[in-house]
Amino acid sequence: MSSADLFVRKVSTNLSAVFNSKGEQVSPAMAAHEAQRRIDIKRPVLMTSERACLCCNERFQSEGSHNRMCDKCRVKSAGMADYAYGR
Ligand SMILES: [Zn+2]
Repeated sequence: MSSADLFVRKVSTNLSAVFNSKGEQVSPAMAAHEAQRRIDIKRPVLMTSERACLCCNERFQSEGSHNRMCDKCRVKSAGMADYAYGR
C-alpha cells in the first residue's frame, strides 16, 4: 500500500506534484486535481526518466517524450499558450 504514503503538494503557483513520505517529488508537476487523481487510482508514479530541459537544459524528471521541458519552463510556456489562445 505504498500509495498511502503519497500526497499532493504545490510546486508552483499553478502546479502541484505527487510526493512520497520522504518528501521526494515522484511525479511531474501538474494540476492539483490531476496529481490527486494519480494517487486515487494508485498509479501515481510511472516514474519517469531524467532528461535535460529543452529550454534551460536543467535536469528534470520527464514523464515521456511529450514532456521535454522542466517544470519552470512548462509553467512559462503554459502562460504563453494561454496568451496566444486568448487573442
Ligand atoms: Zn527548463
